[in-house]
Amino acid sequence: MKYVLVTGGVVSGLGKGVTASSIGLLLKASGLRVTSIKIDPYLNTDAGTMSPFEHGEVYVLDDGGEVDLDLGNYERFLDIKLTRDHNITTGKIYQSVIEKERRGDYLGKTVQVVPHITDAVQDWIEQVAEIPVDGKEGPPDVCVIELGGTIGDIESMPFIEALGQFSYRVGSGNFCLVHVSLVPVLNVVGEQKTKPTQHSVRQLRGLGLTPHILACRSSKELEESVKAKLSQFCHVPLSNVVTLHDVPNIWHIPLLLRDQKAHEAIFKELNLTSVATEPNLEEWTARTKVYDTLKEPVRIAMVGKYTSLSDAYLSVLKALLHASVVCKRKLVVDWISAADLEDATYKEDPEAHKAAWRLLKGANGVLVPGGFGGRGVQGKILAAKYARENNIPYLGICLGMQIAVIEYARSVLGLHDANSTEFDPETKTPCVIFMPEGSKTHMGGTMRLGSRRTYFQVADCKSAKLYNNASFIDARHRHRYEVNPDMISRLENAGLSFVGKDESGSRMEIVELPGHPFFIGVQFHPEFTSRPGKPSPPFLGLITAACEPRTVLPALSNGHTSKFGNGKYSNGYGNGHSPMLRAHHSGNGFKPSNGSLNAVYANGIGPVYVDGTW
Ligand code: GLN
Repeated sequence: MKYVLVTGGVVSGLGKGVTASSIGLLLKASGLRVTSIKIDPYLNTDAGTMSPFEHGEVYVLDDGGEVDLDLGNYERFLDIKLTRDHNITTGKIYQSVIEKERRGDYLGKTVQVVPHITDAVQDWIEQVAEIPVDGKEGPPDVCVIELGGTIGDIESMPFIEALGQFSYRVGSGNFCLVHVSLVPVLNVVGEQKTKPTQHSVRQLRGLGLTPHILACRSSKELEESVKAKLSQFCHVPLSNVVTLHDVPNIWHIPLLLRDQKAHEAIFKELNLTSVATEPNLEEWTARTKVYDTLKEPVRIAMVGKYTSLSDAYLSVLKALLHASVVCKRKLVVDWISAADLEDATYKEDPEAHKAAWRLLKGANGVLVPGGFGGRGVQGKILAAKYARENNIPYLGICLGMQIAVIEYARSVLGLHDANSTEFDPETKTPCVIFMPEGSKTHMGGTMRLGSRRTYFQVADCKSAKLYNNASFIDARHRHRYEVNPDMISRLENAGLSFVGKDESGSRMEIVELPGHPFFIGVQFHPEFTSRPGKPSPPFLGLITAACEPRTVLPALSNGHTSKFGNGKYSNGYGNGHSPMLRAHHSGNGFKPSNGSLNAVYANGIGPVYVDGTW
């Protein structure tokens, strides 16, 4: 087994994850089988209990592991399937060492950070690296390890010590260290500054790790003299100093690394020169070119809770992007904070309310992603109602599916107090209920998690077609509540169609509204299995429907009568715009309601490319 370790220096947020994934992709394109491990030096056992608002999304794996979002980057770039053990945290390591101590495995010895914790880290890496992750048999050839945090953090010290020992354990020729660093440019003089990198390399060496390759983040390409200086002061060959300058989107990074022959430097270090081939990135390059040239926008309103931190919905954004690139449209995501759509905001902050509704109405499609807790739920319900009544393509994921069902029960069945017991434990009409197997006392790892099977119940429904008429699909889950099985027949009699169920037939997995151009809710998270070039089917369905030129149909054309009719809730609180007058869903003739179309995020968190967030 060969190892590539990726560390980061100077500041956090340099894009170590993307760099590590890109290195992995480059090696894979050279004919090697690649796996990856992410080390997170925090104390949490896993990312499951961490707020997406602080830490970005919780990524879910097939085996139900709730892990750091960087594992999503690895899975997407390398098209592999990782396990929970591929994400090492301080919490996991200490837990395993303490368990061993309780069992008496240390034979009376004093248990210490060195050697017990550091040994545990090394053993863990060695064992996990052997797991095949690409569907083939036998161990992979190379394991890319990303060490989270920045060199010098107190928390990462035991890992650095462990990795220093590990490089010695596996021996030279089997270990290559890529250090990602920052070369800032001082505006006043416009000079690329090497000092921060020099310091961080010195720190790395002081801790027992020797960098073989320097990957320098900077706004522009590094000047030759700057590279030479870095080479000289950091004791790294000139050919091993690589620039990672700003690019339009992250799909360029593997190409940037290849163009600077980073793979050759790695192969030399790992004695792989005779084994590896020239990297074949033809398909990747073609797709990147398409992405670069997209002009015609497709606007998706993302109605969520954590709209101030894009990373909270990273995989959803990537899945939307994958689908948009296949549909040759430029993705524009309009962030709508769900609470802004609500009545209460109308009273407290009419401007915010108006702006939110304007965005919703300017969208070609609406997406309500997963979420927890009651804040903004009413706003999400209004968004689902708006999409349903106005024939706007709608995709509801997990909570987005549950609220679509609640909305239908309220509006169409007239069950005004229909709710989820998550938001109203005392509701008389529990439309969404706590799953029997859940735990109400422990939060970590107690949800219905990971890959579960969904069987299609109806052959000619939209979602079955999107999944190539498969009879079943496997998708990842992360939820505590489910649609109440006792309400299914009433909902179906009223027009909803539960077209996908689990093996027991009593757990609802996919809901559709027949007669609507695209109205689908899924209990699972299709975003976690979307890949560049292989977009997740529900996302492809949403974007395809959103791109379709459409004459605006009268509301409620699906034949169901809303109990609320066209009253207060039907078109954004009677602000004078009848949904029927809306004419901007022609696919290309609409006016953008705000922001620059050059940006993927058109509002809220500023003009940042979805893939430019290093
Ligand atoms: N809060 C809901 C549940 O636990 C939805 C979860 C989600 O959207 N991931 O079932």
